[in-house]
Amino acid sequence: MNVRADKSMSAKLLRLKSEQKLASRLIEDGDESKSRRQLHELQVHQVELEIQKLELELQNEALTKADIQMNAALQRYTELYNFAPIAYLTIQHNGNIDYANLAAISLLRKGHQVLCEMHLGIFVSETARPLFNTFLEKAFASHEKQSFETKFLVDGETLSVILYARLNEQSPDLLLEIVNISEYKLAQQHSHTSEATQVALQTQKAAMDAHSLVSITDIKGTIIYANTKFCTVSGYSQEELIGTNHRLLNSNCHTKGYWQEMFLVVSKGGVWNNEILNVAKGGTQYWVDTTIVPRYEHGQLRGYTSIHTDITQHKKLQNKLERMAQYDDLTQLPNRSLLADRLNLAMLQCQRHKNSLAVLFLDLDGFKIINDTYGHDVGDGLLIALSRRMKEALREGDTLSRFGGDEFVAVLAGLADVEDCELILNRLLKAATYPVTVGDTLMRLSASIGVAIYPEDNVEADRLIRHADQSMYMAKQAGKNCYRLFDAAQDEAVLVQQESLGNIRKAIEQQEFVLYYQPKVNMTSGKVVGVEALIRWQHPTQGLVPPLEFLPAIEGHAVSLDIGKWVMDTALSQLSQWHKMGFTVGVSVNISAYQIQQADFVECLTALLADHPDVSPDCLELEILETRALSDINKVSATMKECMALGVRFALDDFGTGCSSLTYLRRLPAHLIKIDQSFVRDMLIDPDDLAIVGGVIALAKSFNREVIAEGVETIKHGMALLQLGCELAQGYGIAKPMPAEDVPSWVNQWKPDNAWQSC
Ligand code: C2E
Ligand code: MG
Ligand code: MG
Repeated sequence: MNVRADKSMSAKLLRLKSEQKLASRLIEDGDESKSRRQLHELQVHQVELEIQKLELELQNEALTKADIQMNAALQRYTELYNFAPIAYLTIQHNGNIDYANLAAISLLRKGHQVLCEMHLGIFVSETARPLFNTFLEKAFASHEKQSFETKFLVDGETLSVILYARLNEQSPDLLLEIVNISEYKLAQQHSHTSEATQVALQTQKAAMDAHSLVSITDIKGTIIYANTKFCTVSGYSQEELIGTNHRLLNSNCHTKGYWQEMFLVVSKGGVWNNEILNVAKGGTQYWVDTTIVPRYEHGQLRGYTSIHTDITQHKKLQNKLERMAQYDDLTQLPNRSLLADRLNLAMLQCQRHKNSLAVLFLDLDGFKIINDTYGHDVGDGLLIALSRRMKEALREGDTLSRFGGDEFVAVLAGLADVEDCELILNRLLKAATYPVTVGDTLMRLSASIGVAIYPEDNVEADRLIRHADQSMYMAKQAGKNCYRLFDAAQDEAVLVQQESLGNIRKAIEQQEFVLYYQPKVNMTSGKVVGVEALIRWQHPTQGLVPPLEFLPAIEGHAVSLDIGKWVMDTALSQLSQWHKMGFTVGVSVNISAYQIQQADFVECLTALLADHPDVSPDCLELEILETRALSDINKVSATMKECMALGVRFALDDFGTGCSSLTYLRRLPAHLIKIDQSFVRDMLIDPDDLAIVGGVIALAKSFNREVIAEGVETIKHGMALLQLGCELAQGYGIAKPMPAEDVPSWVNQWKPDNAWQSC
């Protein structure tokens, strides 16, 4: 009895150990059916051992007791055999089926009776039969377990199977086990094996992982299983979820196309992986990284297993980082990087929809003063307030971005007509002038806006912004608080100007400018009444460059003021030098309209005269150019009077070319007017020009002004002028502009032409 108990104990231990081993293998390889099969085998084996033991013990112990035990064991054996989840057949030596368990009956779809009269080979195709027969022979001949993979034809359906066979210990029959691997084979065919296998493993792993949310649905998406974590995160109980469609959790954040694409993949048995924003029971949203794996049964798609990882925190962090990378911290407006993305996208849409978009470059006028006066905190507050107002002035869908400092760029997309943006521009200008209170300070600014229109200006995004920027400068120059549209011709001019500006600044530094002087004479008295200072650029490679080749490009720009000062300073220095030499002559200097309209013009002139105390201010004459560009005649007139109070005199240059010359003559206190050379040049051949010249001379006289003719190229011109009553003249016919050192000797030797004496 002791021996028996020991044996029974060791068999139990053996079984326990094997079960543990199997359980760990179940976790490792996840092949449940295989493990179940092995467990069953072990159970069968144990019963067999018990039977053997009992038979031996029968000889020694009471027959009745043993008989009962043996019957019980046999009963258990039969039960295990019959109800095993694995298909078992007992095969006779001739290949006929002797016995089939329930799983085998169901797999081979034949009644037990029918099945037991059949040869097993009947399920195997003709071609596979020889190999099958060899397998059977081998199995009967060997005590080792044999396996064979083949296809069974069952009721017209082909099943992929693996057959395992070993000789029955108790009888000459073969115990055959049939494993249906059709599903696995199908999965291999329909989805990419490696991916499917991998995902299957992941699924299993994830299912065991408490951090994953697992749900199983049928083919229509109705939930048939949800793990605890799934319930916790979604906020729904198992009862609430099961039988409900997975759609219950959908947020409206994903497009219809997004779900359609998912459906397309999974309905074909593919694996889909993406991020989904779900809504929990309470209404809070949560992000999950979802993998959906198809679920097959008997080769048929039955539904899906979804494994979700909660990535809400990760998403939040990611969003924060993305926001930081794409938005301006102060105003919360898109920054340059996001602007570039949006603009590129809007340009693509423009091409598609065949409409236009406007890029607005906006710069606040006078922001620097606010910042310098009240400090950065007030400046920041102002930027925040104004950016809000300006955003409100735009349409929904338009982008307003902070480009840097007090610069903003707006993108107005989908414009059917360029005029459409006019309304928005005016609203934007108004928004920028809105009074803003920061702390105790009430401030009011304005904005200058440059506009570039795409595809009229068919360039890339960054150039489009640059063009809008250039136009913004035009708006600044035009007096601020306005907008200017970009045009390509203007761009060309700006480019040339920018290049010229740089070159001219360099030329000033390197002292490449020189003044030439052209005498002005009285043809009757023979007196040299003065010289006109005319600038030239002694260019290192181009030689002597005349002023009309470089001055127009810098017209109205700060650098032209630098040049203007340099000319006055140099002319005064020259006068001083001549005076020291004992040579006395007056010098006239050309002053642009832009220069004389500078607020500090008088101050500047006063300082220059003070720098040259030996020069009498009445030796200096200022010739005002482009009188038609004088915007405020009263102001210019006041400036002139202040200068005259210093002793300086004025001339109006190029007289007759402006359309309102008479107005200027009346209102500007110039002592001299210069008849423009264009009239003088042709006065001998063109009666109209002659009439104009005559008229200007008469006009000057009636206003009690002196008059001088420029462009006197010949003696005859001089004669004609004298006959009209104009004695003062300047021109190539008298002398060409010359370097300063040539002037004294020229003046000393000059004599008027005899022909003029007789006029
Ligand atoms: P402007 O003040 O009317 O100067 C007279 C221009 O006519 C000078 O040209 C002179 O050389 C030229 N000229 C004089 N007599 C004759 C003649 O008989 N025939 C012809 N064909 N031309 C004659 P320039 O030196 O080339 O200067 C051209 C213009 O450039 C000046 O016209 C003036 O508007 C501007 N300019 C010259 N120097 C300065 C300057 O220092 N400052 C400013 N703002 N402008 C200047
Ligand atoms: Mg002049
Ligand atoms: Mg002139």
